[in-house]
Amino acid sequence: MNAPAIRTTCPYCGVGCGVLVERAGEGYAVRGDPDHPANLGRLCSKGAALADTLGLDDRITHARVDGRTAPLATALDTVARRLRAVIDAHGPQAVAFYVSGQLLTEDYYVANKLMKGFIGGGNIDTNSRLCMSSAVAGHKRGFGADAVPGCYEDVELADLVVLAGSNAAWTHPVLFQRLAAAKKARPAMRVVLIDPRRTATAELADLHLALAPGSDAWLFHGLLNHLRRDNAIDWRYLETRVSGFGAALAEVAGLDPARVAEHCALPPADVATFYDWFARTPRTVTLFSQGINQSSSGVDKVNAILNVHLATGRVGLHGASPISLTGQPNAMGGREVGGLANQLAAHMDYTPDDVDRVGRFWRAPAMAQADGLKAVELFEAVRTGRVKALWIMATNPAVSLPEADAVVEALRACEFLVVSDVTARTDTARHAHVLLPAAAWGEKDGTVTNSERRISRQRAFMAPPGEARPDWWLVAEVARRLGHGDTFAYRGPADILREHAALSAFENGGRRVFDIGALAALDDAGYERLAPVQWPLPAGCKTGAQRLFASGGYAHGDGRARMLAAPPRGPALATEASRPLRLNTGRIRDQWHSMTRTGSSARLFAHLDEPYVELNPRDARAAGVEHGGLARLAGGQGELLARVRVTADQPAGSAFVPIHWNDRFCARGRVDALIDAITDPISGQPEFKHAPVALAPYVAAWHGFVMARRPLDCAGHDYWARARGVAHWRHELADTAPCTWVERLRAEFGADGDWIELRDAAAGRHRLALLRDGRVELVAFIERSAAQLPPRAWLAGLFARARLDAAERAGLLAGRPADSAADVGRVVCACFGVGEKTLLAAIAAGAGSVEALGIALKAGSNCGSCVPELTRMLEAR
Ligand code: SF4
Repeated sequence: MNAPAIRTTCPYCGVGCGVLVERAGEGYAVRGDPDHPANLGRLCSKGAALADTLGLDDRITHARVDGRTAPLATALDTVARRLRAVIDAHGPQAVAFYVSGQLLTEDYYVANKLMKGFIGGGNIDTNSRLCMSSAVAGHKRGFGADAVPGCYEDVELADLVVLAGSNAAWTHPVLFQRLAAAKKARPAMRVVLIDPRRTATAELADLHLALAPGSDAWLFHGLLNHLRRDNAIDWRYLETRVSGFGAALAEVAGLDPARVAEHCALPPADVATFYDWFARTPRTVTLFSQGINQSSSGVDKVNAILNVHLATGRVGLHGASPISLTGQPNAMGGREVGGLANQLAAHMDYTPDDVDRVGRFWRAPAMAQADGLKAVELFEAVRTGRVKALWIMATNPAVSLPEADAVVEALRACEFLVVSDVTARTDTARHAHVLLPAAAWGEKDGTVTNSERRISRQRAFMAPPGEARPDWWLVAEVARRLGHGDTFAYRGPADILREHAALSAFENGGRRVFDIGALAALDDAGYERLAPVQWPLPAGCKTGAQRLFASGGYAHGDGRARMLAAPPRGPALATEASRPLRLNTGRIRDQWHSMTRTGSSARLFAHLDEPYVELNPRDARAAGVEHGGLARLAGGQGELLARVRVTADQPAGSAFVPIHWNDRFCARGRVDALIDAITDPISGQPEFKHAPVALAPYVAAWHGFVMARRPLDCAGHDYWARARGVAHWRHELADTAPCTWVERLRAEFGADGDWIELRDAAAGRHRLALLRDGRVELVAFIERSAAQLPPRAWLAGLFARARLDAAERAGLLAGRPADSAADVGRVVCACFGVGEKTLLAAIAAGAGSVEALGIALKAGSNCGSCVPELTRMLEAR
C-alpha cells in the first residue's frame, strides 16, 4: 500500500501554497493540495518543479571550519567559543545575526530569542527587511499593528482589484490565477495595474496606469482628494474610527487629477477613470508589493494606500481591504517572532514595558534594550569592524543587498563569519569561517505564515543528509554551549511553537492583535495535525479571524486608525547626464531569489536562462545596443553585463534587470551591486527600484556558446552565463580577448570519440561537436556577433537523445535541423516544454484561445504560470 501523501507548504513566495508530496519511484512527486485554503490545489511553475530541487548535488552535508570538513559538534563548539570571545572583548553589540524569510517560524523564534534575550544585543535583522519592512511600518502607523486586514478570498469577492507595484502574474502566481479565475467568472470585475512597466500582469488589467517611476504617492494622494471632492468619503467611519484625517485631507487638497496626470506622466483620462472606478466601487481591494515598498519613501506610500481605504471605510470587509503581498514564504512569520531589528518578539516593541514583559517570559539574563542595526546599517557595521562576529542563516546577502560589492568586502573583512545554509556554493557561503549544514525544505518541520496571516505546517518527508540539522537545532546547540541550555532545551519544533504562542498571549489582554494563544495548548499530535489557520487565534478559539478591523478596534491605544499626512517624495537620487536611466529590479516567473534551489531545475531555466536587461527601443538606440547583444550597466558602485532585450513594454528612460543571477551562474550579473544603499528613513528598506545607471554597449571580439553534459569552468571571461538543461549545461560566452575554447575543449575532453569541426577563420566562425557512440557530448559555436549564433533549443534537445540519427548529425554544425519544424523555439510553457515556435504554429493553424492551446499542446493547462504570455501571443496574432 502506498504511503499517504505528506501535506506541506511551498518554500517560495508569500502566497504560501499547500503541497502534497508522495513517493514516485526513486524520487518524489509534488502536486497542489486541494484542501489548502491558499491555493485550493493550484501550484505555479516553481511549486510544480519542487521535486526537481531535492537532489544532493550542491548540498553541504557536513560542517566546515576554515574550509576543512569538521564534525558538527566541533563546528558548533567553535561558533560558541568565538561568539563568547567577541562578546567578552567587545560587548553584545559586536555580534549580529542576519536571518531570512526562508526560515521557519520556529527557527526564527529561537534565533531571535538567543540574540535579544541571552546575548543581549539587538543586532538580528532579516532579509525580509528588503521586501516588506515598509509595509510593516505603514501598518503600524496606520492600524497600530503590523496586521494585514484582508484575505485572499477578498481578491475574488472584490469588484475592483488595484495592483500597485506588483507583477503578481510572476511574483504571486497562484493568487493571480485566483484573481484571473474570479474575473473570468464575473467579467464585470475590474482590474487596475499601477506599474511603470507593462508586465505579464497587465494582460488581465482593464486599465494599466504606466506611471512615472516613483510617482505612486501623488496618484494615491490625488485619489484621496478626488474621493473628498466626489463625496465618496465615509465621514461617519472617519469620525468614529480614524484620527488624522483632517491633516491628511489638507495635505492633498491641491492635487487635482490634471496635476496628478502631469506629475505621474499619465493620460488625464486614465487617471479620471481610475479615480471614478475607485470612488464608485465599495468592494475594492488594493494589492501592493515591492513596487511600493522598495522605495526611499516606501512607508509613506504604504500609508497613502491605507489612507484611501480608511477614507472610504474599506478595511477588513468582504472584498474590500488593502492587502500587502509578502515576498517570501515566511516573511510574515519573521515579523511575528520579532525577526526585524526594530521589533522585540510577538509584535512587541522596545518599550520599557515590553522589554520587561519579554524578559520575564524568557527568564532572560540580558535583554536587549533598544533597536538593533537594520540590514544595510548592519553590513556597513561589519565592513567597518563595529560588528565583529556575524551569523548568516539561509540567505545570500552578497547577492541581495544594495551595494553588493561592499557587502562582499564586509564578509571578507568580518573577523568571524558563520553561515548556515543548504549549499556551500553561494556568493556568501564561500567567505564563511564556519559553514553549518542546514536541513533543506523537505527535511524540516515547522510552520510558516503567508500574506493572509495563515499559519501552515511545513512537514518533513526526507531525512537530512549527513550531519545537516534544522536551523532551530543549530541555534539551540550554540545557546546551550553559551550556557543557556535550560531555556533552549527544545525537544522539537512543537515545543518552540507552543512557547511562541504562549508569549503572544502573555499579558496580552487584547492589546496586541497578534495573539495565537490557542496554539500554546497543542500537544505534539495536535501540532503534527495542525491544519492551516489564520491569526489572531487567542486561547479558546478554534478558528482564526479571516478579516480584521471590520468594525474598527484598531490597535492604537484609542482604538482608532491613523491617516498620515506625508508630502509625496520621489526617488532619492536623481538621474544625471552620467547615469541617465532608472534601474528597476524584480523577479522573473521561474526563478527564486539567488537560485540556490530553482537553479537545480532544468525546466525552470527553460523560460529565461540568462541575466538580461530590458530596455525601451528609444534608449537602446540612443546607447547603440541591440536586441540579443550585450550591454554594460553601471551604477554608483558597480556594474553588470547582461543580454539585451528590447521591448516597448519597458518605459523609456528606465531599465529592468532581474534580481536572481549571481556569481554561480554568470560573470557579472549581480544587479544589486549597482543599487545605491539608499533606504527609507523609517523602515530601512532599500530603494531597489530607482537607481540611476549608465548604459553602454559591450563590444566583444567574439560571442559563443558551449553545451556540454557537465558544467564547465568559465572563470576569466568578461561574459559568461551558465544554465542547466535536462541533460546538459549551457554556457553563453563573450570576450574581448581571443577565443581559446576550441583548443581548451579538445584538451579537456580528449581524443576519445568523433570530433566534428567547422572553421572559417575569415568569418571568425568556429564550430565543434563531440560524439561518443553516436551520442552528443558537447557542441561549441563561436561567431563574431551574437546574431550569427544559431538558436539553442534544437541543440539542447539533442542531448536528451541516446544516439543521433543521420539527419540530426548532418544538422549538428549548422545548429539547425534539416527539417526546421523540429526547432520548437524558446520554451514558454515550462511544465510541458512547449516552445514559442510550436505555439505560434498552432495559433496560425487556428488555435484561437488559451484553452485551445491547452487542448492542442497542453500548454498552460497545468500550473497556468504561462497563461499571461499565451494570452499576449494570441493577442499579437
Ligand atoms: Fe509556491 Fe508558486 Fe504558490 Fe508561490 S504561488 S507559494 S511560488 S506554488
